[in-house]
Amino acid sequence: MQYHEAPDVKSLANEIIESLDLFYIVAESVYCYRSIGSKSKRIIARIHGFGKIWQRALGLPPSYVIEVLSERYDKLSQEDKEKTVIHELLHIPRGFRGGFRPHKGYISKKKVDKLHKDYTTKKSGV
Ligand SMILES: [Zn+2]
Repeated sequence: MQYHEAPDVKSLANEIIESLDLFYIVAESVYCYRSIGSKSKRIIARIHGFGKIWQRALGLPPSYVIEVLSERYDKLSQEDKEKTVIHELLHIPRGFRGGFRPHKGYISKKKVDKLHKDYTTKKSGV
């Protein structure tokens, strides 16, 4: 598996955080990477959290990495890329402490679609 920084994903994430007012997300502590060589046929992206015990052990603040799997993510339409990043950002809890929110009760296709609509509306300045 190879990892490369993904400035395209990072700027998309920044845009989404800003336009959806996800003020609890510390944007500079969200890193974005593109992985190449995954054998997974199902996963498009995933989020990694830098949890409490690591923060304590290494003396570093909470942070997250959004990883997109090049083989699948890069083929998506722009709209689906945006929805993928929205989905991953929704895994970050309001406290921004390095943990996760589960799908159940927090993340659904309906919610992602709604937020995506808000995002495109704001982006087009309507
Ligand atoms: Zn998810």
